[in-house]
Order: sequence, then C-alpha cells, then structure tokens
Amino acid sequence: MTVSPFSDTASAANAPPPKTPRAARTAKGKNPGRSREHNRRVVLELLRRSGPLGRKALADLAQISTQAVANIIDELMNEQMLLDLGRKRTGRGMPPIQYAINPNGAITIGLEIAVGSLTAVVLDLGGNMRARELTALPDMTADVVLDLISGMVTRLRARFQAQLIGIGVVMPGPFEIEGLTGVGPTTLPDWSGVDVAALLHKRCGVSVTVDNDANAAAVGEMLFGQGHSVSEFCMLYFGAGVGMGAMIGDQPLKGAFGNAGEIGHIVVVPDGLPCQCGQKGCLERYVSLHALSEWMTKDGVTPDSAALLQLHAAQDPRLRAWLDRAAPHLSWMIGLLENIFDPQTVILGGKMPLPVLDDLISRLAIPTSVANRRDRLLARVQSGQTGEESAALGAAALPFFNAITPQLHQNEDQAIV
Ligand SMILES: [Zn+2]
Repeated sequence: MTVSPFSDTASAANAPPPKTPRAARTAKGKNPGRSREHNRRVVLELLRRSGPLGRKALADLAQISTQAVANIIDELMNEQMLLDLGRKRTGRGMPPIQYAINPNGAITIGLEIAVGSLTAVVLDLGGNMRARELTALPDMTADVVLDLISGMVTRLRARFQAQLIGIGVVMPGPFEIEGLTGVGPTTLPDWSGVDVAALLHKRCGVSVTVDNDANAAAVGEMLFGQGHSVSEFCMLYFGAGVGMGAMIGDQPLKGAFGNAGEIGHIVVVPDGLPCQCGQKGCLERYVSLHALSEWMTKDGVTPDSAALLQLHAAQDPRLRAWLDRAAPHLSWMIGLLENIFDPQTVILGGKMPLPVLDDLISRLAIPTSVANRRDRLLARVQSGQTGEESAALGAAALPFFNAITPQLHQNEDQAIV
C-alpha cells in the first residue's frame, strides 16, 4: 500500500493549485536547444508546481518553443516520467492533451545513517513512501555500514520496476569541523574524512547525494510538503539536536563548507547549561529532542516517542513545563531567522512527535521582526513533516531535487545530472 508521508502530498495529477501565484519566480527555459537538460527540468518543475498542463501552456510558461516542449515531452513519456491524461475541454477548438508527472515514473532511496541505526525509505516521484527498512548498526565501522547499505539498496531496488534516479544520504552534521567538536551525542565517530558519496556510488552505481538532516528536510518540504509553493523558507529540523535548512530562491543554502544553518550551537542563555560543543547555553540544550528526553528522564528511564505522546495526551505537568521553558528560546531564534532571511514562512519538522511540536508552536511568542506584515499569505510558523522516517524521506528528496529542478545558481551547461 502507498503511504503519503509528506503532508499535502499528491500526485501531480491531483495536486492542489499553488497557494501563491509564483509565475514570476518560475525558471525560464533557454531557446536554442543548447540547454536541453535545463529545459527538461523547467518542464518537470512546471508540471510539479502547477499540476497537469498542455504543450502550449508549458511552452508559454517556460518561454520555449512548442516544438522544444514537444520533444521534451516525447523524451519524458518514453522514460515513463509523464502521464498522458487525455484531452481536457477548455473552450472552442481541439482541447489540448494534458500531461502530468507520473508518480510511478521514478524512485529514489533515502538513507539516514545514525549512531546505532540505519533507516532506508523508497520514495516515488509523487512523494509517496513506497518502502521502509530499519536496521540496527551494532558495528559503526564505515566499511561495514557501507557494505550493509549496498546490500539493502540491491534488495530494495529489485522490488521496483521504476528507474532509480539516485540515493540520498543524511548523516549528523556539522561536517569536518574543528573547534566545535563533540557536537553532541549524535556525531559518528571515526567517519571523519570518509567520502560517503564516492564510496557508495562505487558500490551502488548510481549518483549519491549527502547532506545534513535539516537541509534534506527543507528540500523534502519544498518538493512534496508545506513548501510546495514557497520559494523562500526556513526549515527548523528536530533530530536529536536542532538544525536549520534555508531555501533561498528555491535553492538550499549550503554555505562554503556545507554547514550553513547550524543554529543548535548558537548560545541563547549566556552561562547556561553546558553543551558538548564546549560552550554554555546553546539552543539545543533547551530546544531539542535530546533536551526534552533529558528533562523527562525519571529514575533512569528515558521516554521514547510513543511514551512522549502518551505523556503529552495526559497533559503531563513536567512535559508542559519543558514546553513553557523551550518556547521563549525558540521564539527568539525564529525572530532572529526572520530578520536575517526574510522568509515567507518558517516550517518546523523532524522527529519531535507532531502533537508535541504543534503544542510548542502554540506557545511561541515571536518577537517583532520584518515578518510582521499585514499582507502575509502564510503563517509565520507552521509544522511540516514529522516522524521517525522524516530524515530518510528528506534524504530521498535530494536526488529528485538534483534531477528534476532547475539549478538556477549553476552554470546550466554543467548542471548535475
Ligand atoms: Zn553547543
């Protein structure tokens, strides 16, 4: 059975109309066929954002010739990436054939490598989770884990006929930092210098993208979730710690070394609780799953997410006290992010159970910022994808992002395929 992991997930054939008009932001094609790969991405992007369209409408929106669109559609139909929905009567004359993205046209595999466990999911082009596997990792040696992954990929791949576009991997960040060491209970020991993308590519034979959980979650929200029709947003991701992925003009903000958005180690309480990074009073000592688990640990027993849900449903006073303590720190950080990034919205997601996250959101009192505007179309803060698989789902969105969205900030002739 198909599960829809991303909220607001729908196949392109029945996707809701975009909430905000964004024609002005849509990438344009290039008209001689010098950049066919770019034009192909533009067509896929238009169909993903707008739902079913005909050739003429696609050509007009992409600003490329109808013939170029026809060629791209033929190519995509051959690859089974598109569905022919037949003719739709709109007015006089022969109605145009409508095309939509085929959810079954391609799959990706998303992997979350965490200390002690590996989660793998298969995601289709419609944003539906098609398979899921969870394995314990008693031996965290890189070679052992990568061998195990390649076996898992072979097994999962054999279950689907659709082409495997690529593999996405999320691992705990920050990557290759000195000074800000330790970075908490989730760092993978002895993986420093291991080129996971290259080693996995060699073992599995498809392209591999590696990123941190917050960036991957932002890409997932942009392609299949709350960010569906939003091009500028901040994604706050609750793993064990808390990180931020920012989408700026439809592109994830990476930073020079892939560590942009590492907000968990920004000090929010001077001289506050000591953190494993060596500082005192970091955000994630107050607002993270790790902080919550620590706060809720009683008689040496740490509640798991099912237990947290029960405690929340029972209005446990200790849990409520934690929410009351966490909310002001998170509010302050969100106000800061609004002033820095001027996002359309801030999306909160990750492994924090959804009712707890929604409760936390309801307690926020965000300070005045540039986000105070009368003409807002979206709430300042909203919840996105949550659950145990959210990191792996974000990972699975990474290869789709590389394959189907226009790479606006790159030399288009050298776009990553
Ligand atoms: Zn810290």
